[in-house]
Amino acid sequence: MQIKVVKRLMEASEQHAEVVRQRLREAGVVALNLISAPGSGKTSLIEATIRELGNRVRIGVIEGDPDTTRDAERIARLGVPVVQINTEGGCHLEATMVLRALDEMPPNGLQLLFIENVGNLVCPVVFDLGETYRVAVASAAEGHDKPAKYPALFRTAQVTVLNKIDLIPYLDFDEEQFACDVRRLNPQMPVLRVSCRTGEGIGEWLKWLDEVLKPVV
Ligand code: MG
Ligand code: ZN
Repeated sequence: MQIKVVKRLMEASEQHAEVVRQRLREAGVVALNLISAPGSGKTSLIEATIRELGNRVRIGVIEGDPDTTRDAERIARLGVPVVQINTEGGCHLEATMVLRALDEMPPNGLQLLFIENVGNLVCPVVFDLGETYRVAVASAAEGHDKPAKYPALFRTAQVTVLNKIDLIPYLDFDEEQFACDVRRLNPQMPVLRVSCRTGEGIGEWLKWLDEVLKPVV
């Protein structure tokens, strides 16, 4: 009995993901679901992208957070439409929540939509949000073992962004091991090295974005 209920909830979530995908497709929006551990730089990556692309690409942001509106406030300061989803302690976003956020911020007129998931490397991976691409964000400060320890994220993402590369000289971060583990899980996936703090590598990220935005800009 219990199992049936859980299964039905997952089905509802999957159906909502299809509705989100449909709405985004009709509006001509590319949506990125950013998944990472807390503190690896999802919000900083969104901020850097808005600074670089905001004048030629219409960007919107959905911020998922367990409690505060801090990240949404950072984004709002850049003059971009943003909707906050407070999960009230919940550790991941679901498509149902994204659907409600799209009611607050209709996607028509947008070209690029960031969905910043709750910082967590485990359960966000299980939930399809209806996104166009899944972006795994890792940071050198977390250590090189994240792909090996949390393979599902790196297996299901279409791109990995490795942030905080400016700190590598001060860390015991084995970059070759990191790259090798990612390649083993997902041989075709690009790994983009960036520092949102210094701006190093952001150009490569923008190039990747230009490719995925080609159909809509
Ligand atoms: Mg954040
Ligand atoms: Zn969760």
